[in-house]
Amino acid sequence: MLTTLQATLTPLRQAARRHPRGFAAVVLTLLLLGGGAYALAAAVVTLAPDAALAPVHEVSEAVAPLPLQEQASALERHRYSLYRSDLSRGNDTADTLLRRLGLDDPSAADFLRRDALAQRHLLARAGRNLTAEASERNTLLKLIARWSPDDDGNFKRLVIEKSGATFKSRLETVPLTASTRIASGTIDSSLFASMDEAQIPDSVGAQIAEIFSGDIDFHRELRKGDRYSVVYEVLEGDGEPLRAGRVLSAEFVNAGKAYQAVWFQEPATANVNPQEEGRATHTQTRGGYYTLDGKSLRRAYLASPLAFSRITSGFKMRFHPILKKWTAHLGVDYAAPIGTPVRSVGDGVVEFAAAQNGYGNVVFIRHRNNHVTVYAHLSRILVRRGQRVAQGQTIAATGATGWATGPHLHFEFRVNGQQQNPLTIARNSESIPLAPAARPAFNRLAAVARQQLAAAQLLAIR
Ligand SMILES: [Zn+2]
Repeated sequence: MLTTLQATLTPLRQAARRHPRGFAAVVLTLLLLGGGAYALAAAVVTLAPDAALAPVHEVSEAVAPLPLQEQASALERHRYSLYRSDLSRGNDTADTLLRRLGLDDPSAADFLRRDALAQRHLLARAGRNLTAEASERNTLLKLIARWSPDDDGNFKRLVIEKSGATFKSRLETVPLTASTRIASGTIDSSLFASMDEAQIPDSVGAQIAEIFSGDIDFHRELRKGDRYSVVYEVLEGDGEPLRAGRVLSAEFVNAGKAYQAVWFQEPATANVNPQEEGRATHTQTRGGYYTLDGKSLRRAYLASPLAFSRITSGFKMRFHPILKKWTAHLGVDYAAPIGTPVRSVGDGVVEFAAAQNGYGNVVFIRHRNNHVTVYAHLSRILVRRGQRVAQGQTIAATGATGWATGPHLHFEFRVNGQQQNPLTIARNSESIPLAPAARPAFNRLAAVARQQLAAAQLLAIR
Protein backbone atom coordinates (compact mmCIF):
# COMPACT_ATOMS: atom_id res chain seq x y z
CA MET A 1 0.00 0.00 0.00
CA LEU A 2 2.80 2.35 0.85
CA THR A 3 4.30 1.75 -2.57
CA THR A 4 1.07 2.81 -4.23
CA LEU A 5 1.00 5.88 -2.08
CA GLN A 6 4.57 6.72 -2.95
CA ALA A 7 3.83 6.28 -6.60
CA THR A 8 0.93 8.72 -6.29
CA LEU A 9 2.94 11.26 -4.41
CA THR A 10 6.16 11.26 -6.43
CA PRO A 11 4.77 13.31 -9.36
CA LEU A 12 3.32 15.75 -6.84
CA ARG A 13 6.67 16.25 -5.21
CA GLN A 14 8.31 16.74 -8.57
CA ALA A 15 5.68 19.27 -9.52
CA ALA A 16 6.20 21.01 -6.22
CA ARG A 17 9.92 21.30 -6.90
CA ARG A 18 9.33 22.69 -10.37
CA HIS A 19 6.80 25.25 -9.13
CA PRO A 20 7.77 25.90 -5.53
CA ARG A 21 5.61 29.01 -5.14
CA GLY A 22 2.66 28.30 -7.33
CA PHE A 23 2.21 24.85 -5.93
CA ALA A 24 0.45 26.01 -2.81
CA ALA A 25 -1.85 23.09 -2.34
CA VAL A 26 -2.96 19.96 -4.04
CA VAL A 27 -6.04 17.94 -3.46
CA LEU A 28 -5.26 14.31 -3.05
CA THR A 29 -7.70 11.53 -3.09
CA LEU A 30 -6.25 8.74 -1.08
CA LEU A 31 -8.43 5.71 -1.14
CA LEU A 32 -6.91 3.66 1.56
CA LEU A 33 -7.42 0.02 2.32
CA GLY A 34 -9.17 -1.14 5.43
CA GLY A 35 -12.71 -2.00 4.51
CA GLY A 36 -13.53 1.45 3.24
CA ALA A 37 -14.74 2.46 6.68
CA TYR A 38 -11.56 4.40 7.29
CA ALA A 39 -11.13 5.72 3.79
CA LEU A 40 -9.67 9.13 3.79
CA ALA A 41 -11.71 10.90 1.17
CA ALA A 42 -9.66 13.96 0.40
CA ALA A 43 -6.72 15.67 1.91
CA VAL A 44 -5.63 19.17 1.16
CA VAL A 45 -1.90 19.19 1.44
CA THR A 46 -0.09 22.45 1.83
CA LEU A 47 3.35 22.39 0.34
CA ALA A 48 4.36 26.01 0.01
CA PRO A 49 5.70 27.74 3.09
CA ASP A 50 4.26 31.09 1.97
CA ALA A 51 1.37 31.84 4.34
CA ALA A 52 0.07 34.53 1.99
CA LEU A 53 -0.71 31.98 -0.68
CA ALA A 54 -4.27 30.75 -0.55
CA PRO A 55 -4.90 27.13 -1.53
CA VAL A 56 -5.18 26.86 -5.29
CA HIS A 57 -7.82 24.58 -6.70
CA GLU A 58 -7.10 23.96 -10.31
CA VAL A 59 -9.91 22.79 -12.55
CA SER A 60 -9.20 21.95 -16.14
CA GLU A 61 -11.65 20.90 -18.79
CA ALA A 62 -11.54 20.40 -22.52
CA VAL A 63 -12.86 23.43 -24.40
CA ALA A 64 -13.86 23.16 -28.05
CA PRO A 65 -13.42 26.58 -29.67
CA LEU A 66 -16.57 28.15 -31.14
CA PRO A 67 -16.55 30.03 -34.46
CA LEU A 68 -15.86 33.75 -33.90
CA GLN A 69 -19.37 34.97 -34.67
CA GLU A 70 -20.88 32.49 -32.26
CA GLN A 71 -18.38 33.45 -29.59
CA ALA A 72 -19.28 37.11 -29.89
CA SER A 73 -23.00 36.53 -29.60
CA ALA A 74 -22.49 34.06 -26.77
CA LEU A 75 -20.58 36.74 -24.88
CA GLU A 76 -23.36 39.21 -25.48
CA ARG A 77 -26.02 36.83 -24.24
CA HIS A 78 -24.00 35.85 -21.20
CA ARG A 79 -24.01 38.39 -18.42
CA TYR A 80 -21.00 37.38 -16.47
CA SER A 81 -20.55 37.65 -12.72
CA LEU A 82 -17.37 38.21 -10.75
CA TYR A 83 -16.69 36.30 -7.58
CA ARG A 84 -14.47 37.60 -4.84
CA SER A 85 -13.76 36.41 -1.34
CA ASP A 86 -12.20 37.86 1.78
CA LEU A 87 -12.42 37.79 5.55
CA SER A 88 -14.45 40.32 7.49
CA ARG A 89 -12.62 42.63 9.90
CA GLY A 90 -13.48 43.94 13.34
CA ASN A 91 -13.51 47.53 12.10
CA ASP A 92 -15.53 46.91 8.95
CA THR A 93 -18.15 49.46 7.94
CA ALA A 94 -20.53 48.96 5.03
CA ASP A 95 -18.26 51.09 2.84
CA THR A 96 -14.88 49.54 3.74
CA LEU A 97 -16.27 46.03 3.45
CA LEU A 98 -17.74 46.56 -0.02
CA ARG A 99 -14.66 48.43 -1.21
CA ARG A 100 -12.39 45.56 -0.13
CA LEU A 101 -14.56 43.21 -2.17
CA GLY A 102 -14.07 45.49 -5.18
CA LEU A 103 -17.69 46.66 -5.15
CA ASP A 104 -18.94 50.12 -5.97
CA ASP A 105 -22.60 50.09 -5.00
CA PRO A 106 -24.10 52.90 -2.84
CA SER A 107 -27.50 51.20 -2.65
CA ALA A 108 -25.90 48.01 -1.31
CA ALA A 109 -23.93 50.04 1.26
CA ASP A 110 -27.14 51.74 2.27
CA PHE A 111 -28.87 48.36 2.68
CA LEU A 112 -26.03 46.97 4.84
CA ARG A 113 -26.20 50.01 7.12
CA ARG A 114 -29.96 49.66 7.65
CA ASP A 115 -30.45 45.89 7.65
CA ALA A 116 -30.74 44.37 11.15
CA LEU A 117 -29.10 41.05 10.16
CA ALA A 118 -26.15 42.78 8.50
CA GLN A 119 -25.68 45.08 11.48
CA ARG A 120 -25.79 42.22 13.92
CA HIS A 121 -23.79 39.56 12.05
CA LEU A 122 -21.61 41.24 9.44
CA LEU A 123 -20.43 44.76 10.22
CA ALA A 124 -17.58 45.04 12.74
CA ARG A 125 -17.44 41.24 13.07
CA ALA A 126 -13.96 39.87 12.50
CA GLY A 127 -12.94 36.65 10.79
CA ARG A 128 -16.09 35.76 8.85
CA ASN A 129 -15.64 34.09 5.51
CA LEU A 130 -17.06 36.34 2.78
CA THR A 131 -17.96 35.57 -0.80
CA ALA A 132 -19.35 38.25 -3.08
CA GLU A 133 -20.88 37.90 -6.49
CA ALA A 134 -20.70 41.12 -8.48
CA SER A 135 -22.11 42.26 -11.79
CA GLU A 136 -19.80 43.36 -14.57
CA ARG A 137 -20.43 46.94 -13.40
CA ASN A 138 -19.15 45.99 -9.89
CA THR A 139 -22.53 46.22 -8.23
CA LEU A 140 -23.54 43.63 -5.66
CA LEU A 141 -25.60 40.64 -6.74
CA LYS A 142 -25.05 38.39 -3.74
CA LEU A 143 -22.98 38.52 -0.56
CA ILE A 144 -22.55 35.51 1.70
CA ALA A 145 -20.90 35.51 5.12
CA ARG A 146 -20.12 32.19 6.79
CA TRP A 147 -18.97 31.48 10.32
CA SER A 148 -19.17 28.75 12.91
CA PRO A 149 -19.89 30.25 16.33
CA ASP A 150 -20.40 27.04 18.32
CA ASP A 151 -18.91 23.59 18.38
CA ASP A 152 -22.26 22.05 17.47
CA GLY A 153 -21.50 20.85 13.95
CA ASN A 154 -23.24 23.75 12.23
CA PHE A 155 -22.33 27.03 10.65
CA LYS A 156 -24.26 30.26 10.07
CA ARG A 157 -24.79 31.58 6.59
CA LEU A 158 -25.92 35.15 6.12
CA VAL A 159 -27.11 35.70 2.56
CA ILE A 160 -27.70 39.20 1.18
CA GLU A 161 -29.16 39.07 -2.29
CA LYS A 162 -30.25 41.54 -4.91
CA SER A 163 -34.03 41.45 -5.24
CA GLY A 164 -35.43 43.78 -7.89
CA ALA A 165 -34.41 47.32 -7.03
CA THR A 166 -33.37 46.47 -3.48
CA PHE A 167 -31.82 43.65 -1.42
CA LYS A 168 -33.07 40.91 0.84
CA SER A 169 -31.23 39.22 3.70
CA ARG A 170 -31.67 35.89 5.43
CA LEU A 171 -29.79 33.92 8.09
CA GLU A 172 -29.48 30.15 7.78
CA THR A 173 -28.07 27.40 10.00
CA VAL A 174 -26.39 24.69 7.94
CA PRO A 175 -24.44 21.52 8.88
CA LEU A 176 -20.66 21.67 8.49
CA THR A 177 -18.94 18.96 6.48
CA ALA A 178 -15.71 17.40 7.69
CA SER A 179 -12.69 16.90 5.49
CA THR A 180 -9.19 15.81 6.40
CA ARG A 181 -6.00 17.81 6.08
CA ILE A 182 -2.46 16.46 6.18
CA ALA A 183 0.35 18.80 7.14
CA SER A 184 3.90 18.61 8.37
CA GLY A 185 6.66 20.93 9.41
CA THR A 186 10.08 21.36 10.95
CA ILE A 187 10.86 23.63 13.87
CA ASP A 188 13.37 26.38 13.16
CA SER A 189 12.60 28.89 15.89
CA SER A 190 9.33 27.96 17.59
CA LEU A 191 6.49 25.50 17.17
CA PHE A 192 4.00 28.27 16.44
CA ALA A 193 6.26 29.93 13.84
CA SER A 194 6.56 26.58 12.09
CA MET A 195 2.80 26.01 12.29
CA ASP A 196 2.12 29.45 10.85
CA GLU A 197 4.38 28.54 7.96
CA ALA A 198 2.51 25.27 7.36
CA GLN A 199 -0.83 27.13 7.78
CA ILE A 200 -1.83 24.96 10.70
CA PRO A 201 -4.35 26.64 13.03
CA ASP A 202 -3.36 27.39 16.65
CA SER A 203 -5.99 25.02 17.98
CA VAL A 204 -4.28 22.14 16.16
CA GLY A 205 -0.88 23.16 17.57
CA ALA A 206 -2.36 23.25 21.07
CA GLN A 207 -3.91 19.79 20.53
CA ILE A 208 -0.56 18.35 19.42
CA ALA A 209 1.08 19.75 22.57
CA GLU A 210 -1.70 18.22 24.70
CA ILE A 211 -1.58 14.85 22.97
CA PHE A 212 2.13 14.42 23.69
CA SER A 213 2.04 16.22 27.05
CA GLY A 214 2.85 13.02 28.93
CA ASP A 215 6.04 12.56 26.90
CA ILE A 216 7.31 15.97 25.88
CA ASP A 217 7.46 19.15 27.90
CA PHE A 218 6.85 21.58 25.07
CA HIS A 219 8.03 24.50 27.18
CA ARG A 220 11.48 23.15 27.85
CA GLU A 221 12.31 20.41 25.41
CA LEU A 222 11.69 21.57 21.86
CA ARG A 223 14.78 21.51 19.68
CA LYS A 224 15.61 23.17 16.39
CA GLY A 225 15.10 20.45 13.81
CA ASP A 226 12.23 18.75 15.64
CA ARG A 227 9.65 17.56 13.09
CA TYR A 228 5.97 16.81 13.16
CA SER A 229 3.27 15.46 10.89
CA VAL A 230 -0.40 15.84 11.61
CA VAL A 231 -3.68 14.65 10.14
CA TYR A 232 -6.63 16.69 11.34
CA GLU A 233 -10.24 17.40 10.58
CA VAL A 234 -11.26 20.63 8.93
CA LEU A 235 -14.90 21.58 9.21
CA GLU A 236 -16.13 23.34 6.11
CA GLY A 237 -19.18 25.32 5.14
CA ASP A 238 -19.87 25.46 1.39
CA GLY A 239 -16.34 24.15 0.86
CA GLU A 240 -14.77 26.98 2.86
CA PRO A 241 -12.73 25.95 5.93
CA LEU A 242 -14.46 27.51 8.94
CA ARG A 243 -13.17 25.58 11.93
CA ALA A 244 -10.32 23.22 12.70
CA GLY A 245 -11.56 20.00 14.18
CA ARG A 246 -9.87 17.18 16.02
CA VAL A 247 -6.37 15.90 15.41
CA LEU A 248 -6.86 12.36 14.04
CA SER A 249 -3.24 11.27 14.11
CA ALA A 250 0.09 12.91 14.72
CA GLU A 251 3.78 12.23 14.91
CA PHE A 252 6.30 14.35 16.74
CA VAL A 253 10.04 13.78 16.46
CA ASN A 254 11.69 15.40 19.47
CA ALA A 255 15.48 15.31 19.76
CA GLY A 256 15.56 12.39 17.33
CA LYS A 257 12.92 10.31 19.12
CA ALA A 258 9.59 9.75 17.35
CA TYR A 259 6.27 9.77 19.20
CA GLN A 260 3.08 8.82 17.42
CA ALA A 261 -0.57 9.13 18.32
CA VAL A 262 -3.93 8.21 16.88
CA TRP A 263 -7.40 9.23 18.07
CA PHE A 264 -9.52 6.22 18.90
CA GLN A 265 -12.94 5.81 20.42
CA GLU A 266 -13.69 2.33 21.66
CA PRO A 267 -16.84 0.93 20.06
CA ALA A 268 -19.85 1.27 22.37
CA THR A 269 -20.35 -1.92 24.36
CA ALA A 270 -23.71 -3.39 25.21
CA ASN A 271 -24.23 -3.52 28.96
CA VAL A 272 -27.00 -5.51 30.55
CA ASN A 273 -28.87 -3.64 33.25
CA PRO A 274 -30.16 -6.19 35.79
CA GLN A 275 -33.01 -3.87 36.86
CA GLU A 276 -34.42 -3.92 33.37
CA GLU A 277 -34.49 -7.67 32.93
CA GLY A 278 -31.80 -8.10 30.36
CA ARG A 279 -32.54 -5.05 28.27
CA ALA A 280 -29.31 -3.95 26.73
CA THR A 281 -28.25 -0.36 27.23
CA HIS A 282 -25.43 1.21 25.31
CA THR A 283 -22.67 3.06 27.05
CA GLN A 284 -20.83 5.68 25.08
CA THR A 285 -17.09 5.51 25.62
CA ARG A 286 -14.87 8.55 25.65
CA GLY A 287 -12.27 8.63 22.93
CA GLY A 288 -8.61 9.24 23.51
CA TYR A 289 -5.16 9.18 21.97
CA TYR A 290 -3.13 6.01 21.73
CA THR A 291 0.27 5.01 20.46
CA LEU A 292 0.07 3.06 17.20
CA ASP A 293 0.60 -0.15 19.17
CA GLY A 294 -2.39 0.57 21.39
CA LYS A 295 -1.07 2.20 24.57
CA SER A 296 -3.09 5.10 25.89
CA LEU A 297 -1.19 8.38 25.86
CA ARG A 298 -3.16 9.49 28.87
CA ARG A 299 -0.78 9.08 31.78
CA ALA A 300 -1.13 9.50 35.52
CA TYR A 301 0.80 12.80 35.17
CA LEU A 302 1.21 15.57 32.64
CA ALA A 303 4.78 16.62 31.93
CA SER A 304 4.00 20.32 32.42
CA PRO A 305 1.69 22.27 34.76
CA LEU A 306 1.22 24.97 32.10
CA ALA A 307 -0.76 24.37 28.92
CA PHE A 308 1.34 25.12 25.86
CA SER A 309 0.12 28.20 24.04
CA ARG A 310 1.36 30.96 21.79
CA ILE A 311 1.61 33.19 24.86
CA THR A 312 3.53 30.90 27.22
CA SER A 313 5.79 29.60 24.44
CA GLY A 314 7.01 33.10 23.57
CA PHE A 315 7.51 34.31 27.14
CA LYS A 316 11.10 34.15 28.33
CA MET A 317 12.44 34.46 31.84
CA ARG A 318 14.65 37.51 32.02
CA PHE A 319 16.43 37.39 35.36
CA HIS A 320 15.96 36.11 38.86
CA PRO A 321 18.96 36.68 41.10
CA ILE A 322 16.99 35.75 44.22
CA LEU A 323 16.35 32.27 42.84
CA LYS A 324 20.05 31.70 42.29
CA LYS A 325 20.70 32.36 45.98
CA TRP A 326 17.85 30.11 47.03
CA THR A 327 19.74 26.97 47.93
CA ALA A 328 16.60 24.87 48.41
CA HIS A 329 15.75 25.34 44.78
CA LEU A 330 15.11 21.89 43.33
CA GLY A 331 12.30 22.48 40.95
CA VAL A 332 11.52 23.56 37.43
CA ASP A 333 10.82 27.19 36.57
CA TYR A 334 8.38 28.15 33.83
CA ALA A 335 8.34 31.74 32.66
CA ALA A 336 4.77 32.91 32.11
CA PRO A 337 2.88 36.20 32.19
CA ILE A 338 1.08 36.86 35.50
CA GLY A 339 -2.37 35.27 35.43
CA THR A 340 -1.54 32.27 33.21
CA PRO A 341 -3.66 29.26 34.29
CA VAL A 342 -1.81 26.62 36.30
CA ARG A 343 -3.13 23.07 36.16
CA SER A 344 -2.72 20.06 38.38
CA VAL A 345 -0.52 17.51 36.61
CA GLY A 346 -2.47 14.61 38.10
CA ASP A 347 -5.55 13.59 40.10
CA GLY A 348 -5.14 14.29 43.80
CA VAL A 349 -6.16 16.14 46.93
CA VAL A 350 -5.07 19.68 47.89
CA GLU A 351 -2.80 19.40 50.92
CA PHE A 352 -1.89 23.06 51.32
CA ALA A 353 -3.13 26.23 49.61
CA ALA A 354 -1.86 29.50 51.12
CA ALA A 355 1.24 31.69 51.45
CA GLN A 356 4.45 30.08 52.72
CA ASN A 357 7.65 32.19 52.95
CA GLY A 358 9.90 31.82 49.87
CA TYR A 359 7.23 30.05 47.85
CA GLY A 360 4.80 32.95 48.14
CA ASN A 361 1.27 31.73 47.38
CA VAL A 362 1.69 28.01 46.93
CA VAL A 363 -0.41 24.91 46.36
CA PHE A 364 0.69 21.41 47.40
CA ILE A 365 -1.23 18.50 45.87
CA ARG A 366 -0.97 14.96 47.21
CA HIS A 367 -1.30 12.17 44.65
CA ARG A 368 -1.13 8.40 44.99
CA ASN A 369 2.08 6.59 46.03
CA ASN A 370 3.35 9.41 48.27
CA HIS A 371 3.71 11.75 45.31
CA VAL A 372 3.31 15.47 45.98
CA THR A 373 3.42 18.30 43.45
CA VAL A 374 4.18 21.92 44.36
CA TYR A 375 3.09 25.05 42.46
CA ALA A 376 4.65 28.29 43.75
CA HIS A 377 4.81 32.13 43.33
CA LEU A 378 1.11 32.16 42.40
CA SER A 379 -0.90 35.36 41.99
CA ARG A 380 -4.20 33.61 42.71
CA ILE A 381 -5.19 30.30 44.30
CA LEU A 382 -8.44 28.72 43.09
CA VAL A 383 -8.59 25.63 45.33
CA ARG A 384 -8.99 24.95 49.07
CA ARG A 385 -7.23 22.55 51.38
CA GLY A 386 -8.86 19.10 51.29
CA GLN A 387 -10.38 19.62 47.83
CA ARG A 388 -10.15 16.84 45.20
CA VAL A 389 -8.65 17.94 41.90
CA ALA A 390 -8.53 16.19 38.55
CA GLN A 391 -5.64 16.01 36.12
CA GLY A 392 -5.56 19.14 33.99
CA GLN A 393 -7.86 21.10 36.33
CA THR A 394 -6.96 24.78 36.73
CA ILE A 395 -5.91 25.28 40.35
CA ALA A 396 -4.27 28.71 40.31
CA ALA A 397 -2.77 31.52 38.24
CA THR A 398 0.91 32.31 37.86
CA GLY A 399 2.45 35.29 39.65
CA ALA A 400 5.62 36.58 41.29
CA THR A 401 4.84 36.23 45.01
CA GLY A 402 7.46 35.09 47.55
CA TRP A 403 11.11 35.07 46.55
CA ALA A 404 10.64 35.73 42.88
CA THR A 405 11.83 38.78 41.01
CA GLY A 406 10.02 37.97 37.77
CA PRO A 407 6.69 36.31 36.99
CA HIS A 408 7.12 32.56 36.73
CA LEU A 409 5.81 29.27 38.03
CA HIS A 410 8.07 27.22 40.28
CA PHE A 411 7.09 23.55 40.05
CA GLU A 412 8.32 20.57 42.05
CA PHE A 413 7.57 16.89 41.95
CA ARG A 414 8.34 15.10 45.23
CA VAL A 415 8.43 11.36 45.76
CA ASN A 416 8.57 10.46 49.46
CA GLY A 417 9.63 14.03 50.15
CA GLN A 418 12.47 14.06 47.60
CA GLN A 419 12.38 16.28 44.53
CA GLN A 420 12.49 14.37 41.25
CA ASN A 421 12.58 15.36 37.60
CA PRO A 422 8.86 15.85 36.73
CA LEU A 423 9.37 14.79 33.14
CA THR A 424 10.90 11.46 34.11
CA ILE A 425 7.99 10.82 36.47
CA ALA A 426 5.42 11.72 33.81
CA ARG A 427 7.03 9.49 31.21
CA ASN A 428 7.26 6.56 33.58
CA SER A 429 3.76 6.91 34.98
CA GLU A 430 1.42 4.09 34.08
CA SER A 431 -0.87 4.31 31.05
CA ILE A 432 -4.31 2.80 30.68
CA PRO A 433 -4.37 -0.22 28.32
CA LEU A 434 -6.88 -0.72 25.54
CA ALA A 435 -9.75 -3.16 26.14
CA PRO A 436 -9.01 -6.46 24.30
CA ALA A 437 -12.42 -6.36 22.57
CA ALA A 438 -11.49 -3.04 20.94
CA ARG A 439 -8.23 -4.39 19.51
CA PRO A 440 -9.35 -5.42 16.00
CA ALA A 441 -11.00 -2.04 15.32
CA PHE A 442 -8.00 -0.27 16.78
CA ASN A 443 -5.51 -2.19 14.66
CA ARG A 444 -7.37 -1.29 11.47
CA LEU A 445 -7.38 2.37 12.45
CA ALA A 446 -3.70 2.32 13.41
CA ALA A 447 -2.81 0.89 9.99
CA VAL A 448 -4.57 3.82 8.32
CA ALA A 449 -2.85 6.28 10.65
CA ARG A 450 0.54 4.82 9.71
CA GLN A 451 -0.21 5.36 6.02
CA GLN A 452 -1.45 8.90 6.59
CA LEU A 453 1.59 9.87 8.62
CA ALA A 454 3.86 8.28 6.02
CA ALA A 455 2.08 10.34 3.34
CA ALA A 456 2.56 13.50 5.40
CA GLN A 457 6.28 12.82 5.69
CA LEU A 458 6.65 12.19 1.98
CA LEU A 459 5.02 15.53 1.30
CA ALA A 460 7.37 17.43 3.60
CA ILE A 461 9.70 18.95 1.05
CA ARG A 462 12.38 20.24 3.34
ZN1 LIG B 1 12.05 27.72 40.90
